[in-house]
Amino acid sequence: MKLELLLLIQKISLYKQTFNIPNFLIGILEDLKNSSYKPYFVGGCVRDFLLNKEIKDFDIEVFGLNSLEELRTILEKHTKVIEVGKTFGVLKIEENGIECDFSIPRVEKKVGKTHKSFEVKLFSDLSIKKAAKRRDFTINAIYYDYFKNSFIDPFLGLKDLKKRKIRYIDKKSFVEDSLRVFRAIGFASRFNFKITKKTKHLLKDIVKSDELDNLSRERVFEELKKLFLKSKKPSIGLKLLDELKIFKISFFGKYRAINRLSKILENREFEEKRALVLFFTILLRGEKEDEVLEFLSKISCDKKFLSSINSLLKESLEDDYISLKKQSLRVVLEDLILIELAFKNKNLSSIIKKCEEFDILNRALKPHIMGVDLLELGFSPSCDFRNMLNFALDLQIRENISKEEIKSSILKNFVK
Ligand code: ATP
Ligand code: MG
Repeated sequence: MKLELLLLIQKISLYKQTFNIPNFLIGILEDLKNSSYKPYFVGGCVRDFLLNKEIKDFDIEVFGLNSLEELRTILEKHTKVIEVGKTFGVLKIEENGIECDFSIPRVEKKVGKTHKSFEVKLFSDLSIKKAAKRRDFTINAIYYDYFKNSFIDPFLGLKDLKKRKIRYIDKKSFVEDSLRVFRAIGFASRFNFKITKKTKHLLKDIVKSDELDNLSRERVFEELKKLFLKSKKPSIGLKLLDELKIFKISFFGKYRAINRLSKILENREFEEKRALVLFFTILLRGEKEDEVLEFLSKISCDKKFLSSINSLLKESLEDDYISLKKQSLRVVLEDLILIELAFKNKNLSSIIKKCEEFDILNRALKPHIMGVDLLELGFSPSCDFRNMLNFALDLQIRENISKEEIKSSILKNFVK
């Protein structure tokens, strides 16, 4: 007990140094306090601070309000307010890329199939423990009082953080939102935490109930996205997805390649969507076409995203320059190279060299001959232009020759 107290005090002094609450937020908190309301930080921001992770978004639950309007009036004095969901009682503000969700204490009861079919009751005078009960895991239900500089920890989340455990809060309500299966797996993967035995049982119950089928693609995608982009070793999450049989496809043979890709991308500025395309391509490589389609239909309906994955799945990297030039017209070669690097399949240095030589690592081969060149050669615009351009591109791909040489070949082969 003494040790825990000591640890808590240690954490608090650490907090003073590093929990960087943006200035605009401090002004709002003070305004709320001066109006006799009680704001608390809660959820991911408190958890991530205690784990020494960077905090990007803040969740603040405000006690003592009689309505969402009272909260809105105060927030609007400071900034623009976006209403997220009236029934959930959440108002969002954003300043300098930092998002803050303000909510009113609430109690939720499942009444239908989707995540929106919750009966929600907002309360001004709920106790912290009762308000925290709707949250998923103990580590996500630690409250922080900025003014007293103290933590309120109704479900012993601090202990679980220390022991690196993912533990449900309320058995009865936990199974009411099947997204919690993905959230548990995601947190276990991101923080390298263990899911407690009893929590795993509940996750299995949810999987058995087929409730996962009622989740929207967007919600599943968001959780998988965090699993891949925020885990040092996403294989921890993939193993759990396999163990709980969440998808028909088993990812067993892909753990290492996924971890390698994670490592490769770690210190690179890489666009999120592009990274996700690579992760999913690795996961799905070599799987049966109908199973790939079924998997993808569960996670996204973004046509561009899905077609990038499908295109990469169809390609395998060749070493000759003709194939490479052709491939560059269909996919980004660097993507294929990164996938191969993750699988450690090939010696890639000669391929990379060729791509650099033709400047096709990150873009399609640039045709030497365009329509204007044909006009300059004295041809008048006609349907034959397409044939001539194809002829020129084909020559450029097959033979390593210059623009001038291609021009003279066009003059030889086509009549003006
Ligand atoms: P992340 O780092 O992924 O954002 P987070 O815990 O902050 O993690 P959010 O989705 O931002 O996740 O949610 C903020 C808080 O709201 C959580 O910490 C948790 O207390 C609560 N919460 C979010 N989603 C659920 C859910 N499906 N069931 C119960 N509580 C939830
Ligand atoms: Mg969050």
